[in-house]
Amino acid sequence: MNMTTRVYKPEISRCPVCNSKLFYRYTVSNKVIQFSSGHKARVKNLGYSCTNKECRCKDVIFTSQTASKFCLKGYTYSAKIITLITVLKKKGISREKICAKLALMGIDISDRNIDNIASKELSLLEQDYKENIKNEYKFMVDNYGQIRLSIDSLVVEGIRCVSVRDSFHNHQIGLHLFDKSDNEGVLKLLHDYVDDLNVKSITTVRKNTGFFKLLNQAVNRDMEYICFIKY
Ligand SMILES: [Zn+2]
Repeated sequence: MNMTTRVYKPEISRCPVCNSKLFYRYTVSNKVIQFSSGHKARVKNLGYSCTNKECRCKDVIFTSQTASKFCLKGYTYSAKIITLITVLKKKGISREKICAKLALMGIDISDRNIDNIASKELSLLEQDYKENIKNEYKFMVDNYGQIRLSIDSLVVEGIRCVSVRDSFHNHQIGLHLFDKSDNEGVLKLLHDYVDDLNVKSITTVRKNTGFFKLLNQAVNRDMEYICFIKY
């Protein structure tokens, strides 16, 4: 069977702190991912780093935020499948029904795996994201003098899932669900993330999307936006 291989490099080519060119170091992840279309693809996420020995960023391995967003650490299912499982479980749908629904989409997954994924993701939804913001932002400012975020939005089954990570180490800062039409709720949440003036860069969805318009409305100042690569 021939399988597509998709290779991703970081979206930035220069070090955000000293502006030196980033160089390839090693492949951070290389795994076969199952997508919601039922197709599988091998995804390689290449790690780059700053080679300036004096730079405070010299130990950071930069990866593709696009690859990290749809191929979540620890999973071999795409972020969309993970979100679908989380949303259905949150709606009280039984794991047998979720399993049957996914089978119809051409995705093989066991009941037990559905439970494991759902319990892990539901616990992320319960996290104290404001506490995470405090800690992760302090860590980024102390170590790199700036905050760089990756903010993704996925809509499944009428529910919008907003996921926020730091762009230096891919730590998950928050995971949130909203009714698809609840723009006010999303806007209020985005303010919690973007109002800190140390936020210098946001990797996110394309500019022609409704979500980007909401994000840009919340930011309301100069911001470096980096788009996820189309895949
Ligand atoms: Zn540097």
